[in-house]
Amino acid sequence: MKVIRNPKKCQNLLTSKRSRLSIGFVPTMGALHAGHISLVEKSVKENDFTVVSIFVNPTQFGPNEDFSRYPRTLKADLALLEKAKADLVFVPDAKSMYSNEEGLSVKVGKVAENLCGAFRPGHFDGVATIVAKLFNIILPHTAYFGAKDYQQTVVIKQLVQDLYFPIKIKVEKTVRETDGLAMSSRNRYLSFEERKRALSLIHSLRWMESEIKKGKTHLKKVKAKGLEILKRSVDSVDYLEIVDPETLVPLQKSQKKMVAAIACSIGKTRLIDNLTILQ
Ligand code: AMP
Repeated sequence: MKVIRNPKKCQNLLTSKRSRLSIGFVPTMGALHAGHISLVEKSVKENDFTVVSIFVNPTQFGPNEDFSRYPRTLKADLALLEKAKADLVFVPDAKSMYSNEEGLSVKVGKVAENLCGAFRPGHFDGVATIVAKLFNIILPHTAYFGAKDYQQTVVIKQLVQDLYFPIKIKVEKTVRETDGLAMSSRNRYLSFEERKRALSLIHSLRWMESEIKKGKTHLKKVKAKGLEILKRSVDSVDYLEIVDPETLVPLQKSQKKMVAAIACSIGKTRLIDNLTILQ
């Protein structure tokens, strides 16, 4: 497994491989867990050559967010990636990815307006900008993202469509702990007691799912009860919504496919989770 830090070097190496080998790509911010590794394994299975990037992207963090304390565990990450049979790990530094402070960036439209976009201004512009840069450096045939960050997958699909990246986007299901908690690099911030309270995200989502599957079509009531369940355990709620899977517009009435999504805080830790609900 090769580790490259320099963007140009990475681009040159991959340019020499692209015509011969199918390239799969998994962008990450490191502090890897089984959720990330499931994406890597999928890419290894489906491609000749798998590239993983590790970069804690400063432009997707707000001024009062956790950029400086975000876990950085490069040595352990590389060991996990070696075991998962990744071929190349791209680990750039902020200077090389943002060499020009006043440089170009991507501005995301409507899909970044609600859910996390409403609570993290500029977050998805930062995500789209770094992913566009990484796509141009790596130019994979296929890139893998987790459904855990649902709004992000919608933003990335839009990015690929609107900027004509010749890249297939695959979204893989959320990997959970055995008790249902969605795996996240931020889970390591949680104390023992907070970790127990964090289960209320999946409990609330699953409760809403079962109500809808029982035939409840009036989503306002379903959301109100879901919120009640959530609020019993968490410290603050950014949103609890049931939205259209493509437009992310909040729904009043149930439809064939919906996404229930939550963002909330427990202590100082902001957690998100979602479930796709099929009726
Ligand atoms: P991050 O390092 O948090 O930026 O995540 C990198 C990629 O891993 C993103 O596509 C995430 O959606 C994905 N990911 C994070 N957590 C999980 C999980 N529990 N299951 C599946 N994919 C995940």
